[in-house]
Amino acid sequence: MSQAFAAVKAGEESLLCRSYSRYPVAVVRGKGARLWDADGKEYVDLLAGIAVTSLGHCNDEVNAALAAHAEKLWHVSNLFYQEEQLELARLLLSTSHHQKAFFCNSGAEANEACIKLARRYMRKVKQRDAYEIITLEGCFHGRTLGALAATGRENLSDGFAPLPEGFKQVPAGDIEAMKAAITPATAAVLVEVVQGEGGVVPLCGEYLRQLEALCRERDVLFMCDEVQAGLARTGKFWAFQQYGLKPDAISMAKSLANGLPMGAMLATDEVARGFEAGSHATTFGGGALASGVAAKVVEILLRDKLADRAAELGEHLKRELAAMQTRQPGKIKEVRGLGLMVGIELAVDGKPVWEELLRRGYICNLSHGITLRLLPPLNIDKSDLDGFLQNLEDILAQIPA
Ligand SMILES: *Cc1c(COP(=O)(O)O)cnc(C)c1O
Repeated sequence: MSQAFAAVKAGEESLLCRSYSRYPVAVVRGKGARLWDADGKEYVDLLAGIAVTSLGHCNDEVNAALAAHAEKLWHVSNLFYQEEQLELARLLLSTSHHQKAFFCNSGAEANEACIKLARRYMRKVKQRDAYEIITLEGCFHGRTLGALAATGRENLSDGFAPLPEGFKQVPAGDIEAMKAAITPATAAVLVEVVQGEGGVVPLCGEYLRQLEALCRERDVLFMCDEVQAGLARTGKFWAFQQYGLKPDAISMAKSLANGLPMGAMLATDEVARGFEAGSHATTFGGGALASGVAAKVVEILLRDKLADRAAELGEHLKRELAAMQTRQPGKIKEVRGLGLMVGIELAVDGKPVWEELLRRGYICNLSHGITLRLLPPLNIDKSDLDGFLQNLEDILAQIPA
């Protein structure tokens, strides 16, 4: 452990709440897909702040937009009209079938907005006392009490009871279980098209289509959590577009402002009727600065066709990993994912592999101790992915089968 790192680590332990277990790296600087630590060591960042810096660290164009907006206006609150929100709303709505946007500050908040809108739409517009939200096992929707109730994982809610009522989980991929779970009290079904924190688990397209049809048949809202998979990452602008779905509302956050805290919900005109002036609010949501930056991010994602690039690079990664799986028998159990959201489930202990990658300067996430999760910037050079592949194969080749 270097002195520089030890000092940061000691500071963290004495000053911050014990809420995170961190990687043994103190990051001081970033550019594009590169990070540097306190000792000057360089890393290839294949995690992008957990799918946040999709345009790379300290992107020049985003920096310029940030600087320009910083000189113009930071924050006035939602008591005022702000052109920046409209510009961002126009751009986002041009990418989907929705007509209305609501801005907030995080993924959990975007899901809270979906949950609150679904309940209020049912009560006030449909005149039905339907409030229950059904989610899928293995999902992740955030850490506020409502989002935690939606997530429903006991290890995450340990010590925090009571959670809000009106949530239940069913097994993913089991349409019969969903049929049995929907009752007259059900307001909405909320799903991730690719479960991210769950270990990069893409749901089957046929199941998702059946699920949406079931929601229509039972007059229940169908909502997608696009916080991690959205905004061009999976190879379509929205992950739900992979299967021609038309969710009533979607949540997004992570890469929306490339690292500034920013979240949003998009909804159809019909379902957006659930909110009236005063129904839901946030002080910071859609602030001029964050909205101005987010509009630039969305503009670049569209202009540079980064969804197509994510699809191409994702195919390349998956093809190469499948070949590696054959060349290195007994090392890789499964390669999953869509676009640049890739999970490599190992057949060997994941921790030493992840540690050796980090030692060699490749940052990725280790999910459930067994799955290497890659969420690189969408504009990453192909050669960086190839460098990762070479190092991974070299590491796997040295492990006895
Ligand atoms: C990260 C994530 C969230 C929570 O977002 P926060 O900004 O941490 O609140 C919600 N849903 C999904 C799918 C996520 O990946």
